[in-house]
Amino acid sequence: MEDRDGKIWKDGQLIDWRDANIHVLTHSLHYGMAVFEGVRAYKTAQGTAIFRLQEHTQRLLNSAKIFQLQVPFDFATLFEAQRTVVKENQLESCYIRPLIWVGSEKLGISAKGNTIHVAIAAWPWGAYLGEEGMAKGIRVKTSSFSRHHVNVSLVRAKASGYYINSILANQEALTDGYDEALLLDTEGYVSEGSGENVFIIKNGKLYTPDLASCLDGITRDAVLTMARDNGIDIIEKRITRDEMYCADEAFFTGTAAEITPIRELDNRTIGAGHRGPITEQIQSLFFDVVAGKAPKYQHWLTLV
Ligand code: PMP
Repeated sequence: MEDRDGKIWKDGQLIDWRDANIHVLTHSLHYGMAVFEGVRAYKTAQGTAIFRLQEHTQRLLNSAKIFQLQVPFDFATLFEAQRTVVKENQLESCYIRPLIWVGSEKLGISAKGNTIHVAIAAWPWGAYLGEEGMAKGIRVKTSSFSRHHVNVSLVRAKASGYYINSILANQEALTDGYDEALLLDTEGYVSEGSGENVFIIKNGKLYTPDLASCLDGITRDAVLTMARDNGIDIIEKRITRDEMYCADEAFFTGTAAEITPIRELDNRTIGAGHRGPITEQIQSLFFDVVAGKAPKYQHWLTLV
């Protein structure tokens, strides 16, 4: 990824992509305490627009707050910087990655006194779980690795180190021939995918796990809002894996994954074994929204 043309915003300045480097003794590289966001911009008739930039920027700052990282830039600066990066790189639609990390001044566990840095990059990124998965659904395996316990990791933060757990689960699922992992919480209830929130549909109602052990996903929130607005009952509760086996439909949500149907879990076909009708309805509304074709949700879009 490092050998590309383009610009990256680093600590207040736009610099050449190839010059956006850090020292090997960077604290965050050793201990994983960095926080980040994944944001997407889409092509709309009015120009490129970033989806829910307000919410992503706020979550980034909340993540920093949880780890007591003193970010040297305010909300408005980070908000504008993300627009600038998309504009400067002339991207019509893209993924945006803001990252806040701890510098290399000293390498003890305590990061107190180390400098805090911010970078924002953007690049084109298609369907995260594949175009075919988007249309037909993916095959998922319950992971042997549990999701975070509330008193081990603070999952309101989107922190780099947490993704070691995601990588273990995702690696295991891919090695075993599946497309993605489903992680259970430490009590055995469904939590989320390695980088996605999860939903099921049963008898026309939409269910998703509460937020105790999963990320407070911004796509999750968009789906709940759109479903509510369209008269679909939504229930946030503990979900068991057998409830998922017997669901009529299931799907993952995430900025990268967007809305990806799940057609199989642990070799059990979910519903009819392909993208279900309510999933399709929500997915299609979501793609209208991000493309600026749904006036009701125009406030979720920020033109660059
Ligand atoms: N859970 C995890 C672990 C994730 O990494 C992501 C992606 N950020 C999500 C859920 C979905 O969150 P969002 O919709 O805000 O991208």
